[in-house]
Amino acid sequence: MKRIYLDHSATTPVRSEVAEIMYKYLTEDNFGNPTSLHWFGRKVRKGIDEAREKVAKSIGANAKEIIFTSGGTEADNMAIHGVAMANKNKGNHIITTAVEHHAVLNTVKALGKQGFTVTILPVDKYGAVRAEDVSAAITDKTILITIMHANNEVGTIMPIEEIGVIARSKGVLFHTDAVQSFGKIPVDVNKLGVDLLTISGHKIHGPKGIGALYVRRGTKWKQSLFHGGGQEGLKRAGTENVPGILALGLASELAAANLEKDNNYLKVLRDKLIKDVLEKIDQVELTGHPVQRLPNHASFTFRFIEGESMLLSLDMKGIAASSGSACTSGSLEPSHVLLAMGISHEIAHGSLRITLGIGNNNQDIEYFIKELSVIVDRLRAMSPLDPDNEFSQSSDCVSCKESGSCNNLA
Ligand SMILES: *Cc1c(COP(=O)(O)O)cnc(C)c1O
Repeated sequence: MKRIYLDHSATTPVRSEVAEIMYKYLTEDNFGNPTSLHWFGRKVRKGIDEAREKVAKSIGANAKEIIFTSGGTEADNMAIHGVAMANKNKGNHIITTAVEHHAVLNTVKALGKQGFTVTILPVDKYGAVRAEDVSAAITDKTILITIMHANNEVGTIMPIEEIGVIARSKGVLFHTDAVQSFGKIPVDVNKLGVDLLTISGHKIHGPKGIGALYVRRGTKWKQSLFHGGGQEGLKRAGTENVPGILALGLASELAAANLEKDNNYLKVLRDKLIKDVLEKIDQVELTGHPVQRLPNHASFTFRFIEGESMLLSLDMKGIAASSGSACTSGSLEPSHVLLAMGISHEIAHGSLRITLGIGNNNQDIEYFIKELSVIVDRLRAMSPLDPDNEFSQSSDCVSCKESGSCNNLA
């Protein structure tokens, strides 16, 4: 069957050059422990040093400011926890937004149970935080602002530069999760005005299980999660993931080198996709910002149908997408991001996210639109929610609201 992958915000295929360098650092004589003083160790150490330079260069940082981690989640945890622990004598207040990735939200919530006070800022209907709300939330106890660069669910780009200026002027440390933006739009730690920044390998055509945290030189931050050896300049204990680090170095270099070309290519495809969906299907809305959004990102809500049903139907046609409605994934609540944007439960249940990659082309979009139109028509014809069809009972998902279950929607 034809297989079309349209879920690049979830993960990306590994570039062949990147897979090759991983293989190289798993084989030949590249198996040494980088801490070892002998030739085998030194050889691998040199590879890590070069990868660190590449990652640093791709975000406008210095190699000494890069710490390799096991991924975006660890880097987010390390950033937030590390600032909290190093600054708890100064204050206990942390500011974030309602639409962060769970790696950030659950970390600040955990700190909220350990004596820290957390302000979770609201967002506008596009999913963007207002810089003035950030400014107004700062108190003399504020030690950290952590706000994502671009949202994974709706693609909205946050006003990070503006917030960076505010954070700097008030002397508050500023962390951004740039996992989704890195490799898609320019990410420069100085332009953004951030003190800490997170990236992840598998969102930029690298492998899973590797990421990096940037910590600006002089930042009051301390390694506080792992206890162990002195790797990563005492900042991240544990023998280095050598193939992963080499892969992240190359993936970052390639992402930065191809940024403009890929960005232009993806934008054209994305705009065609958005235009076609809005034109060819009715009762559908774009979620997230119409302009300030990732070049590869399209997300929608469809009335009277459930996101999970759309996903499964698309999957039967070989199309991989994702949804913010999580009825079948164990959680009964629809996406916290869509709800924070003021979208109702009922409408949020009909969400669909399409995220493109450099491997996609026009034919993929055409096939997707063709199949989606058929699927939407079929699901709506069966939907008890659609007032136009004969089975319709109510335009409200009553049982969904009352019991949190949406079994009657399928
Ligand atoms: C994927 C993602 C993460 C988590 O990164 P992992 O490397 O998968 O742990 C964090 N933040 C955002 C915005 C993401 O999209």
